Amino acid sequence: MVHVDLRKIGETRIAILRIDNPPVNSIGSQVRVAVGESLAAALADDAVQAIVLTGTGKFFCSGADIREFNTPKTLIRPLLRELISMVETAHKPIVAAINGTALGGGLELTLGCHGRVASEDAKLGLPEVKLGVLPGAGGTQRLPRIVGIQAALDIIVGGEPLSASQALECGLVDDVAADPIDSACQLAVAIVRGDRASRVIDPAPLGDAASEAVFDDARRAAQRRYRGCIAPQECIACVEKTLHADLETGLAFEAERFKLLVEGDQSKAQRHIFFAERKAAKLPAAAQASTVRSVGVVGAGTMGGGIAMSFANAGIPVVLLEQSEEALQRGLNNIQRNYDVSRKRGRFSQEEVEMRLALIRRTMDYADLSDVDLVIEAAFEDMQVKKDIFTRLDQTCKKDAVLATNTSRLDINEIASVTGRPGQMLGTHFFSPANVMRLLEVVKGARTDDAVIATVFRLAQRIGKIPVLVGVCDGFVGNRMVSHYTREAYFLLEEGCTPAQVDGALRRFGMAMGPLQMQDMAGLDISWAARKRQAPTRPAHLRYSKVADRICEMGRYGQKTGAGFYRYEAGSREPIPDPEIDKLIAQCAAEAGIVRREISDDEIVARTIYALVNEAARIVKDGIAQRPSDIDVVYVAGYGFPMFRGGPMFYADTVGLPKVLETIRRFHAEHGEYWEPAPLLVELAESGGRFSER
Ligand code: NAD
Repeated sequence: MVHVDLRKIGETRIAILRIDNPPVNSIGSQVRVAVGESLAAALADDAVQAIVLTGTGKFFCSGADIREFNTPKTLIRPLLRELISMVETAHKPIVAAINGTALGGGLELTLGCHGRVASEDAKLGLPEVKLGVLPGAGGTQRLPRIVGIQAALDIIVGGEPLSASQALECGLVDDVAADPIDSACQLAVAIVRGDRASRVIDPAPLGDAASEAVFDDARRAAQRRYRGCIAPQECIACVEKTLHADLETGLAFEAERFKLLVEGDQSKAQRHIFFAERKAAKLPAAAQASTVRSVGVVGAGTMGGGIAMSFANAGIPVVLLEQSEEALQRGLNNIQRNYDVSRKRGRFSQEEVEMRLALIRRTMDYADLSDVDLVIEAAFEDMQVKKDIFTRLDQTCKKDAVLATNTSRLDINEIASVTGRPGQMLGTHFFSPANVMRLLEVVKGARTDDAVIATVFRLAQRIGKIPVLVGVCDGFVGNRMVSHYTREAYFLLEEGCTPAQVDGALRRFGMAMGPLQMQDMAGLDISWAARKRQAPTRPAHLRYSKVADRICEMGRYGQKTGAGFYRYEAGSREPIPDPEIDKLIAQCAAEAGIVRREISDDEIVARTIYALVNEAARIVKDGIAQRPSDIDVVYVAGYGFPMFRGGPMFYADTVGLPKVLETIRRFHAEHGEYWEPAPLLVELAESGGRFSER
């Protein structure tokens, strides 16, 4: 776990301690013990005058072993903070040779060292905030003393890693070198000789190094960026502590705040999502992925444009096909406008924008798709339109090209039936805006080859998406669940709520936006078309709310027409409550014989969120999702479900499945058969199980 080499430079002998814990050099209990023993031996060895601490391969150390959190292993000594203190107070210089990634506890370990050298490709960061905790091994106390308050707040609250050159610029490292071990040895020798000062941290309080306003700004920004999350606020409180507390007092404060977070539900939920995303990438069958070198996109509308941008952003050439010159130009103008916004925000330079635009080739001729490796269709949501397109694609595209549809709900097997290659046909369901949202539902048809799924998974990862494997059904995972969620939202309107009340309750629960605001954003005509399609097979005895249909009949399709459940001022996305809609809702309720009543936030949340949970349990049982944690990934990455609640399944586990079932049974008695408890929920609740254990 720790390899020790000796190196002699002039008269100085240096012990090089190399952490070796594949695959990512995390620092769990065993590594702490091994580093502690090697350090103690090197410190006691009179033949050694300095120590260099480094890692293996591309990792210096990726941080604490998250799997050990909330287990007795975290108590095995030395604790990480004890190890760092041992480094910091050592009587021989200890220099970190940061040979690659140094994150979390790994970077904190280097902060106790007396010098730091990074390789040119090193990444240094404190991402703990993303897991709902804070750097708990001194990071919040030492980093501000090294790089200053503002830079420390940016690194700790932002959670994004710095490059080696950024780390050099803010003073986090002393040097960047092609051979960091050699450079660290030279620095150690210089410290031994007194030619360079040892960077021992001054434990005194930082005094008035920053004004109150800096922290107020940080708190406000964190509230906006991480709505409902407590960890960012705790991070800021710890950094603020450095102003008036000495190192020892600050470290004790930090340890106490860390304990509170690590034992809390939020960080457990965020760690669940961290692992769930990694699990979602695991495919049921091992298969050989092929490399996709170029892509075709059919349709340059809302989705097609965003999909083309996602590929261009990853350097993959795209052929964008439309049915008319006018539609093509409109689509390209939208793409150009989106890139302009990114450029103005400083995300891309003009040159980078031009490079991306140059990768998107426009056409109205299917022959231009004859050579691409994969085509994604994003035309109108209409079975006949899709069948016509896939018939032409099948005729034109090369034999081994993969054909994909971005349909939201249509039957992929039926679309595949018009092609002679159902094995190479699948769904790739992007989310709007497609160049921003990270979720990609990869829909496996009845005959889709495993190798095609593997190819699309690899491609998804290349373009920075989180792929989740789902099966064919109306709406796949996300939209199938959302139908139940919005159904309850509509019922709640009839029973006594206003749109603002329903949306407000769910936003306070943590959703990025409420269900009615979300409908207005997506376009009410889309779900209206789906309801019309389902109407012939909808059982007549089931309750049905006409509110959304009636709003559509008024020509109100949401934001795009300036009115839907809310009204919108020209050019604004801010929903404004509309008394006309309140009147319409009351009218629909009266027609349905519903007596309106007062409804609490708790009921709104239970009705809508448990509707998601109950349907999700059916989806897992049906095999449409591989595992409950995939559903959590879909909801957090694609539907604005609060990360700090871990997704609907984890949330249900947190509430307790027996309690969820009891409430669903009550809704079943009060509201009828929509609420029939899902068999999997009953099974788990009655056997003491949890969704997250499956
Ligand atoms: P859109 O109306 O904005 O764009 C569709 C585009 O396809 C138009 O530009 C149209 O000119 C073009 N088109 C239509 N028929 C064509 C043909 N035969 N050949 C070439 N181009 C053709 O629609 P959208 O919102 O981008 O949706 C596209 C698809 O993505 C639909 O299947 C939709 O269900 C799905 N989807 C939409 C969203 C969303 O939020 N909008 C999200 C996920 C999936």
